[in-house]
Amino acid sequence: MTERFDHVVVGLGALGSAAAYQLARRGRSVLGLEQFELGHHRGASHDTSRILRHSYHTPEYVRLTQDAYDDWAQLSADAGRELVTVVGGLDLFPPEPAIPMVDYTAALSEVGVPFELLDVDQVGERWPQFALPAGTTGLFQERGAIVPAGPGTAAMQDLARRYGAVLRDRSPVASVTGTSVALADGTTYSCGSVVVCADAWTARLLAPLGIDLALTVTLEQATYFAPEHPEDFAPERMPLWIWMDDPSFYGFPCYGEPTVKAAQDCGGPVVDPDARGSDVSEEMLALLAGHMGSMLPGAGRPVRSLRCQYALTPDRDFVVDRVPGHPTVAIGLGAGHGFKFAPTFGRLLADLATGERERVSPTFALDRPALVDPAYSAHWLV
Ligand SMILES: Cc1cc2nc3c(=O)[nH]c(=O)nc-3n(C[C@H](O)[C@H](O)[C@H](O)COP(=O)(O)OP(=O)(O)OC[C@H]3O[C@@H](n4cnc5c(N)ncnc54)[C@H](O)[C@@H]3O)c2cc1C
Repeated sequence: MTERFDHVVVGLGALGSAAAYQLARRGRSVLGLEQFELGHHRGASHDTSRILRHSYHTPEYVRLTQDAYDDWAQLSADAGRELVTVVGGLDLFPPEPAIPMVDYTAALSEVGVPFELLDVDQVGERWPQFALPAGTTGLFQERGAIVPAGPGTAAMQDLARRYGAVLRDRSPVASVTGTSVALADGTTYSCGSVVVCADAWTARLLAPLGIDLALTVTLEQATYFAPEHPEDFAPERMPLWIWMDDPSFYGFPCYGEPTVKAAQDCGGPVVDPDARGSDVSEEMLALLAGHMGSMLPGAGRPVRSLRCQYALTPDRDFVVDRVPGHPTVAIGLGAGHGFKFAPTFGRLLADLATGERERVSPTFALDRPALVDPAYSAHWLV
């Protein structure tokens, strides 16, 4: 007997869990399928923390962050606990940065999100932990925040189930159509619509639907450092930060433990998600530790590292859209910076799945030039 659901969600990382939660919350019958065990560490949504921020490079993204803060607030209310820890966000632009500061100041100004520009001395007065090269400018946005990665994803799964969704793990999906999903073991499910949130594995599920999605999967690495004086890196004394250059790095104050987490953005090797290891890269660790040693000398020595995947589109923009020619198949893809938007993507994907909206934005469309033009030159630092 083929079981039938209103919606089947493929992939239960942050995005799929958010979509299952939003659809179940609207009284729909939902089946969520995950190839590995729930909470596994082989994708992109595990570990402790992720950055939520307003500072982005276009007004459209800044507006989307306003939705993200609202959707995290709604999720926190539904979960009955605060999931957002506001610590302030400091974007650091060295002289002649690879990432233009004007994109950020212009976008924030156009949308009306307040920020401050600070020179090296002003940053040093407020946060003496930083040792910055002369001429660096700090863009401080007071609402920069931390959201929980693994626990946040689990919270959305718990809520999805509380609203009646059926979540099945160790259920690898072999193929999808507009009205059915087949597992690798031959089990099939019929449904009114399918939502695919398979991140690094998305391209192979879309190929049979005629979509050749240009995705680059990289194996990133985050590292925890043990400061001698963790109190100096407490959330009330230290903002999250992003080094806006090439290479680009980012980091957090202490969050639930006396360590300082940091990582390089887009520093990992290209991998096949099914043929990659999880060993620590000493090379990536050395590059990061070098940067930390000069910029945050008190952060201490590295104590542990973990690996995690990015699924990068050529323009690093998301995909939140229906599949052209298959209106009952919706796709959500976070392009290596989507966790902060997970509750929002869940809501938008539910709108697409239920027909409450037909498109989200040309910027996140599957048929946009960056995704269909093989000559498009990829750029990932934003
Ligand atoms: C080191 C690192 C730091 C990051 N920092 C930030 C940050 O600070 N802020 C931010 O906003 N974003 C950040 N991101 C990006 C963010 O974490 C991701 O964009 C987001 O987690 C993607 O969620 P997802 O659900 O799409 O992907 P995933 O969590 O990878 O979920 C996809 C799921 O689909 C499952 N799946 C795939 N194929 C199938 C199939 N055929 N059948 C069944 N299941 C399948 C997979 O097993 C997986 O569980 C970071 C990412 C990394 C790696």
